[in-house]
Amino acid sequence: MNTNITAFVSLISISAVLNLFLAIYVVKKKSYYRSIATTFSMYIGSITIYCLAAAFGLLSTSIEQLKLWTTIQYIGIAFAPILGLFFVMQYLGRKVNRKRYLIFLVIPIITLLLVATNDLHHLYYRVYEAHPYLGLPYIQLEIGIGYVIHGIYTFSCMLAGLYVILANWKETSATYRPQLVALIIGQLIPMVAAFIYLLVGTAPGIDPVPMVLWISSLLYLWAMNNSKMFTVIPIAKDTIFQSMNDGVLVLDESYRLIEFNKAGQQMFPGLTKDMLGVNFYNLWRDLYDEVFPCTLDQSPLTKEIHVDQHGTIYQMRTSCLGVSKQHNGIVMLFTDITEMKKLQFQLEHIAYYDELTQVLNRRAFFQHCLSEFLQAKETGTPYTAILMDIDHFKRINDFYGHDIGDVVLQEVVQACKQQIGNNALFARYGGEEFVVAVRADAAEAFTLAEQMRQTLEHHAVPIDNTNLLVTFSIGIAQATGDEAETLRQLLKRADTALYEAKNNGRNQVRIEGENAKSLHLY
Ligand code: GH3
Ligand code: MG
Ligand code: MG
Repeated sequence: MNTNITAFVSLISISAVLNLFLAIYVVKKKSYYRSIATTFSMYIGSITIYCLAAAFGLLSTSIEQLKLWTTIQYIGIAFAPILGLFFVMQYLGRKVNRKRYLIFLVIPIITLLLVATNDLHHLYYRVYEAHPYLGLPYIQLEIGIGYVIHGIYTFSCMLAGLYVILANWKETSATYRPQLVALIIGQLIPMVAAFIYLLVGTAPGIDPVPMVLWISSLLYLWAMNNSKMFTVIPIAKDTIFQSMNDGVLVLDESYRLIEFNKAGQQMFPGLTKDMLGVNFYNLWRDLYDEVFPCTLDQSPLTKEIHVDQHGTIYQMRTSCLGVSKQHNGIVMLFTDITEMKKLQFQLEHIAYYDELTQVLNRRAFFQHCLSEFLQAKETGTPYTAILMDIDHFKRINDFYGHDIGDVVLQEVVQACKQQIGNNALFARYGGEEFVVAVRADAAEAFTLAEQMRQTLEHHAVPIDNTNLLVTFSIGIAQATGDEAETLRQLLKRADTALYEAKNNGRNQVRIEGENAKSLHLY
């Protein structure tokens, strides 16, 4: 064998072995290189096939052998450009949707078929024969239309790769620019070698590209090793995703469940890995008997969902995934807010209800009553305030003690509640003073007040073997409906009537301004 050929075979073989080692190395460390490992090893794998077949081709002793090795070479040559572009894109964080890019495999497949069947049509090589003077493995070739198309495709992929790298230059920090330079050189090396081959001409039919491809592979590996993008960041993201307290569920653009984290599985115990790919729209309807509340074109949504009969409440926040108008899916975040809701309810209860009697407190009464009072004024409907004060309550406290006084207050409230029902506001106005506000006129309010007074009068509170009887004095005032009247003024008038009831002997109801309509039962 000619010494030149020996040198070419050695160089190409070294390149093939180096590439093979790199591919095996990255596949073995797949867990370290994460998602890019597959793309990188496929790219390097295609180059390895290219180099190995090129080396064996140079050892061919017949034109048939050479043609066979050329076809095998093209398994690598045809696919390497697009795989190289995928690698660069993935390296730079561009999303490579393999399904969408399948279209780019059309030309490599046609190329491979054309090379394999070239003898039938001569579309790839018009002439492919042993060199007339130098003999095999040197060859004389004339390129055909297929060769030109594949050449354009290859250079387009490489130029696209260069473009993507340069487009990222500005936004890449200085620390990561050497890696970009490595990628650029990696892209340029086979391009320059191919140009030399095509324009200047090396030895006839001897392709120098496989001899230099190992340099590109090594540069790519160096760039990968020196970027945290494929190692630390995905691990960090995965760790955060799995250790979150909030449940996360991800749906694709067809509402199919594609991912969930540990917390998500704990929050929805029925969720299993088998359910990945299941249509979540239907699942939601089966679970909650309602239409799934979020659509792909919707802005972020927050919703409370009651997940079971035990009062568990999740807050669901959804947001659509996608760039500009393109929607790729939905991410749903679930937070268990059961405890927070309970606490919120307790706080609201403490803020609005009287601790001893569990009726509205004075502050809550004013809040509720003011809106009712204003509404009644606006609509011209009657509105009346009833103020009630227990007679001689101090005596009960003094005689039986404060605790018994408390029990009496609770009993009094229970007795009144039954009379009032849910159609009026009932609140503790002060110590042993209570207020009722009704959407009714003074006469109707009088009937209610009189009912309460009589009920209480006959309602014996069993204390220390005796039955304790307490009475109420009650003052009533109806809203005048005047534009200028305030709620405080109305209550002040009811208080005046109450004062009159007290002065008149207690245990009676008085309507403000109507002396005749008072009732004495003594
Ligand atoms: P009157 O018939 O004039 O209303 O006489 P009274 O003794 O009821 O007089 P007053 O309304 O001035 O006294 C109210 C008493 O109610 C004073 C206070 O010690 C008592 N009191 C207020 N809040 C509570 C409470 O929460 N529990 C108990 N046990 N007593 C209370
Ligand atoms: Mg009082
Ligand atoms: Mg009193």
